[in-house]
Amino acid sequence: MREIINIPVDKITPEISLILQGQGIPDESEVKSEITDLAKIARDIFIRWTRSKLLISDITHEDFEKIYYSTDFNESPAPIEDIYPRADELSIFALTIGQDICDEISGLFAKNDFALGSMLDTAASAGTDLASDFAASWYQNNVIGNTNAKQRRTLCYSPGYCGWHVSAQRALFAFLKPEEIGITLRESCLMEPLKSISGVLIYGSDKIHLFENQYSFCAQCPSQPCLERMSNIEN
Ligand code: SF4
Repeated sequence: MREIINIPVDKITPEISLILQGQGIPDESEVKSEITDLAKIARDIFIRWTRSKLLISDITHEDFEKIYYSTDFNESPAPIEDIYPRADELSIFALTIGQDICDEISGLFAKNDFALGSMLDTAASAGTDLASDFAASWYQNNVIGNTNAKQRRTLCYSPGYCGWHVSAQRALFAFLKPEEIGITLRESCLMEPLKSISGVLIYGSDKIHLFENQYSFCAQCPSQPCLERMSNIEN
């Protein structure tokens, strides 16, 4: 299986509350109408300029192992090295919300419209994260198929996080070839367009996605997103 999916923009448009959260404004705060209006404008621009594509390919455990260990710079121990060998199925993916929206953000900063530029940047980051949720759901619904399976799920993991070094992107790109959907890799291993995500989708028992986040690198991870993911599994 190797597929390209155009992600409908309504599936990844962030709520205003999510944009405001991304700006560091908690849910229950009283927010001035000027700020909310700015978030609405940013969301409208997001809807107008987002062109989101997902490329997804299944991969054997053996081929994924080659990608994971293609770099000498991974931390060990690290969660992914324990998770993927216990997975039922693996798939690698890359997605982007497109260059147009990134150009809109740069254009606003170039015009010194920092307030709207920053709000749009936050909206685009939130939309990109929602696109990775879409990728996991799409994979679960269209490839795995057993959406009613209890205590099993698909989660995504990306190079550059949780001890998996970003330089593994080179091997991931060589296998997946996401240039076909307009994503290229810079020398630094950052992706172009910037609002892109790549990684592995891991399907298996809920238990494989649960771990103690006590790795050496966790101290430098301020938001610790794994905690929320694991609490969603446990509840
Ligand atoms: S604390 Fe951060 S770095 Fe550590 S496992 Fe969780 S998400 Fe990864």
